[in-house]
Amino acid sequence: MIQIKDLHKSYHMGSGSLHVLKGINFEAQEGEMVAIMGSSGSGKSTLLNILGILDEADQGSYFLDNVPIKDLNEKIAAKYRNEFLGFVFQSFNLINYKSALDNVSMPLYYQGVKRKLRTEKAMHYLDKVGLADWATHLPSELSGGQKQRVAIARALASNPKVLLADEPTGALDTTTSYEVMELIQGINDEGKTILVVTHEEDIAHMCKRIVNLKDGIIISDTIVQQVSAKQQANV
Ligand code: ADP
Ligand code: MG
Repeated sequence: MIQIKDLHKSYHMGSGSLHVLKGINFEAQEGEMVAIMGSSGSGKSTLLNILGILDEADQGSYFLDNVPIKDLNEKIAAKYRNEFLGFVFQSFNLINYKSALDNVSMPLYYQGVKRKLRTEKAMHYLDKVGLADWATHLPSELSGGQKQRVAIARALASNPKVLLADEPTGALDTTTSYEVMELIQGINDEGKTILVVTHEEDIAHMCKRIVNLKDGIIISDTIVQQVSAKQQANV
């Protein structure tokens, strides 16, 4: 599903530059659930943003579902993002003047899906994350965990090939974090490929594989025994 080879990325500021990714090689097959770990500043978000076609590498190759991702104009990049990828962020990134339902149907609007079908699909995904009764509520009326569920429903609405989550539990307390991870595990159990950036060990162990980033390279890449978020929540 994802293949990257010898990926490099630097940021340039003024006279200096910061070499953040220094030759990343990584593959993920369909159905995997991978944690990307590393200390703050190790380049996790940089890598995820490149995988999400929100940013481009300076060097190296990236294939997403066998499609080469390189030198895309913004229109094609947006099309691929819409078609292939769902995003979940630490800060939810919901539109605060729109209802939960409207937030979830937003990506469908951009795909040109007609209003009736849009609403149907958005309701389906809100129901899937347990928030059917909250469809008309604004983000400000929802708890952190509920906001993240709406964000997950929005990410799923366009039925992406890959779900990319950057510290999805970073703004949540432990119990709520585990509830959100339980939801994400359920989505992976249905076959969705998922990448979760986290710096928390317990969250990483709720994935099936852990990749460790340090100083711009992958220092380990290990299949792990997946810990059930549901069980962990009840300990
Ligand atoms: P992580 O997500 O692992 O905390 P990031 O990928 O966000 O790390 O950042 C890696 C390094 O790159 C950090 O030192 C950060 O300050 C720097 N960085 C990230 N984005 C930019 C940017 N747009 N411009 C300049 N430096 C950046
Ligand atoms: Mg980050």
